[in-house]
Amino acid sequence: MLINQKKLANFQGSAFVGRPNLAAAGGYDSLVNQTLVTDRARNRMQNLIGGYLQGVTSREVMLSILKWEMALMDGNVVDDFLRDLRTNWILDPDVLDAVSRTYTENVQHWVFPEEPQSSTQLPDAIECTIPELVESAGMAVGILRQVLNMLVGVNTRLNLRRAYESVEQALHLVSEEVALLEQAGELVGSGALLAPAFPGRKVQEASWCSTKGAPLTPKQIIWLASLAEGQRELSLTYADGISHHSTLPQLVAEQVLVGDRQRIWAEEERVFGEEYGIALARTCPRCNSGPGENCRSYKGMETSIHKRRYTTAS
Ligand SMILES: [Zn+2]
Repeated sequence: MLINQKKLANFQGSAFVGRPNLAAAGGYDSLVNQTLVTDRARNRMQNLIGGYLQGVTSREVMLSILKWEMALMDGNVVDDFLRDLRTNWILDPDVLDAVSRTYTENVQHWVFPEEPQSSTQLPDAIECTIPELVESAGMAVGILRQVLNMLVGVNTRLNLRRAYESVEQALHLVSEEVALLEQAGELVGSGALLAPAFPGRKVQEASWCSTKGAPLTPKQIIWLASLAEGQRELSLTYADGISHHSTLPQLVAEQVLVGDRQRIWAEEERVFGEEYGIALARTCPRCNSGPGENCRSYKGMETSIHKRRYTTAS
């Protein structure tokens, strides 16, 4: 079952109510809740199709919203919905086809990497999946739009210019984030390939899939997906990349190792060269060889530079 009790409680009330009440979790309640959520999802999907048929919603918008609704639901709920669509609705065959394919060719195969421990360590975190997050953020956008409308339509005389501007700004910011989340979420879920490194950085330098790498932002995921074309043999899915945060993908690991080693050697070489030059420019306090001359042994043979020649004052 996709939706557990904790998630259910979140979906029942507003999406913005913080930690859900787990005390009410129980067998019968759970069953009733499950049905409610399923009904609500089905209603939302049906409203969406209805809106499209009435010309309120464009085909493109309808499909993009439906995509995330379907990602959120259990497979059999979606199957029921698609069957209902085929038998009880008058839809153009190509629209019906587009809806089915959105599910069977995309959403159905989405898999999101899960880290069950991460949110349980934070007492106030609501554990959720990417589709649930997208859904919730989308609801926030809808509510902010509604608030804007209400600010204009409030029937008591008030100067609400500042309130309007604030909500408008919030709407703009949240909408932008939702768009990025949707795009990145789809790339992660569908297992799209991402480039291992950002432009200008060598692949062997630690990137998001390295042991010390930080997780990517949605924007970075979208960016790296667009860069993956040029370096497909090194590209990998986000799930694979972050699963190697402690152990690197072999190919990348080897290159990181080689690159690290070369960097260390080059740096040692440079520091040694500098110190050697400085020491050689001095007179050796031990064998008395002058500036630029090599050190000599007691018997007059050339030797490596005497240690004290490195540390003595010029
Ligand atoms: Zn010497």
